[in-house]
Amino acid sequence: MPELPEAENIRRALQERLPGRRIVRVEVFTPAMRTPLTPLLKANLEGAEFIAVRRRGRYLAAEITGERAFLMHFGMSGVVRVEPASVPRRKHEHLFLHLDDGNVFRFECPRRFSLFELHPLPPGKKFPAALDKLGVEPLEKGFTATYMLERAAGKKVCVKVFLMDNAVVTGIGNIYATETFFSSGVDPRRPAGEITPPEWRRIVRNAKKILSRAVEAGGTTVSDFLTVDGSRGAFACELQVYGKAGTPCPRCGTVIESVTLGGRSSAFCPRCQK
Ligand SMILES: [Zn+2]
Repeated sequence: MPELPEAENIRRALQERLPGRRIVRVEVFTPAMRTPLTPLLKANLEGAEFIAVRRRGRYLAAEITGERAFLMHFGMSGVVRVEPASVPRRKHEHLFLHLDDGNVFRFECPRRFSLFELHPLPPGKKFPAALDKLGVEPLEKGFTATYMLERAAGKKVCVKVFLMDNAVVTGIGNIYATETFFSSGVDPRRPAGEITPPEWRRIVRNAKKILSRAVEAGGTTVSDFLTVDGSRGAFACELQVYGKAGTPCPRCGTVIESVTLGGRSSAFCPRCQK
């Protein structure tokens, strides 16, 4: 499932291709993914011009003229491409936005869990109101040890689930949370409210480092995720513990264990992570 680094790479690729382009025609091949696509046909999109593509957590918002933005989330299997109209439509491409340069923006999603919706932009805002509930961005200034300590006060939920709570900090999913707790030497099962200030400093610093590194590597490919130009992310080879339960810890050699936290499998080293 695309996480923040993958979403950021898709954003960068779309930001290179879309701004300045006008939509000349809309085609919808499937009534709905996570939500209906058919409203796009009646939204007067012809002639609208792309202005900028921005990211909040794992969501992208592509602003177009008329104080509107396409809100996108890639679910489990969403892929976007910008390719010439001569490339035949793939089986699971549900939406085409024909552009004025002869290219087509395409949204493919075999499992149809992705989101593609048109939203109004509130005056002066860069993102639709639907994203107001999201917490701080992990790669921006608001994500600090002090902030996490305050938000975690008294919380009994395990710290890994807390770090993955989008209302607290947005866009840290299972892969990067798992890696962050390993790098920080913190047991992901501990209650969030019991994490000490030095531990939060390590967690915040490592989360930023790992996410930044993954953004630069093009994200992690562990399933069918592709970046917008069809290339695969290169961060998977840098994973230390994610997906490695039953193998030796790269630091101490102890066998990596796995527990289920918040419904997600969580690999950790029982010796290195306290
Ligand atoms: Zn270890």
